[in-house]
Amino acid sequence: MRTVILPAIVSVLAIPIGVCAQDLRSDIAQDYDSYLAPLFEHFHRNPELSTVEFETAARMATELRDAGFEVTENVGGLGLVAIMENGDGPRVMMRADMDGLPVEEQSGLPYASTATQRDPITGAVVPVMHACGHDVHITSLVGTARQMAKRRDQWRGTLMLVVQPAEERGLGARAMREDGLWERFGQPDYALGFHVNAATEAGKLNVQETALYAGVDSVDIVVHGIGSHGANPHQGKDPIVLASQIVLALQTLVSRELGPREPGVVTVGSFHAGTKHNIISDEARLQLTVRNTNPETRELLLNGIRRIAENMGRAAGLPEHLLPEVSVLEEWTPPLINDAPLARRLKAAWGDLMGESTIVDEPPTGMGGEDFPFFTIDPDIRSLFWRVGGTPAEDFEREEQGGAPVASHHSPLFKIVPEPAVRAGVESTVLAMLELMQH
Ligand SMILES: [Zn+2]
Ligand SMILES: [Zn+2]
Repeated sequence: MRTVILPAIVSVLAIPIGVCAQDLRSDIAQDYDSYLAPLFEHFHRNPELSTVEFETAARMATELRDAGFEVTENVGGLGLVAIMENGDGPRVMMRADMDGLPVEEQSGLPYASTATQRDPITGAVVPVMHACGHDVHITSLVGTARQMAKRRDQWRGTLMLVVQPAEERGLGARAMREDGLWERFGQPDYALGFHVNAATEAGKLNVQETALYAGVDSVDIVVHGIGSHGANPHQGKDPIVLASQIVLALQTLVSRELGPREPGVVTVGSFHAGTKHNIISDEARLQLTVRNTNPETRELLLNGIRRIAENMGRAAGLPEHLLPEVSVLEEWTPPLINDAPLARRLKAAWGDLMGESTIVDEPPTGMGGEDFPFFTIDPDIRSLFWRVGGTPAEDFEREEQGGAPVASHHSPLFKIVPEPAVRAGVESTVLAMLELMQH
């Protein structure tokens, strides 16, 4: 059964029974003003680093319990799973990540963070900021929980809200899976998530039918050499010259070996060697980030790096036991590939209920990564990850006219307008759930 269609409100065509788009949207707006706005400011003022999001996790547990969900804490570290069962129907998961970054906030916001925390990696006390907008994600998840709990007569199935730690280090999603996420709480039929985006106009939704984020590998190369006096290079094997040749040869992987319409990145981000002007050292170290949008590209790039490094070592005349050593680190993320039919279905629902002009098509321009795909591969789960705009239109106009540029994610100047970003986050998530769980 569908809502009665009146000529004047054709846009309600796709709305599940009992849902009035206007009511829903004004409800969410009211909840934003009275509840979510101060909650967002609280999270923004109190960011925590990856793997040590203790207070954030505790607050999220309280919020989701108060909303009526059954909450389990400490899943895969500080992760939370909040379940609401509501009869037979699909199991739908929504993920929000909750970590901040070691950045000193300079946004000028009245609720800017002045927080500091001991960095679990370095041990140093560092400033912390929600410089990626994960505060928008968790606040929106609370808003979603409150709306869905209130509208139990409008959906059937099981809701599974996942609050994930340590996204910025690519650890949290995998840790939650390895802690038996599906075995303990049930494998979802659909997995959803969004990221707020500074490069998109606030309140707009950007939905892609294909790869939204790249797969990421980190690779270390140790280039051995034979040390000697800088005045007598013929008596050694210079690892700095060899590593330099390797860096240049790696550039041919994407330009000459990968198909010209296939995206891929090989970036050498770190090159360390030597101690002094007049010493030829016996070692150089390279650190690479390698990115792909499918397993074939991944294999081509990783195999190519190994082949080039080892054979450049041979070309330099190194003995076999001193050839460059290539290691692919265990911390990796797969590419994030959206389910195309699901993307089209939810895009249509959002267009109907939030207005066609809310949906923008801005294909990704870079090869950024996300660890969300750990929730959706092995086994494959139908999933959609979308973007919610977070920058006011006038900021883009100012930039176009030569004014201050819009700050990017991870910048100390990063600034998201929570209204309408949080509201659009709640609206899109609730509407997606009602679409998938209508009865
Ligand atoms: Zn980030
Ligand atoms: Zn992020």
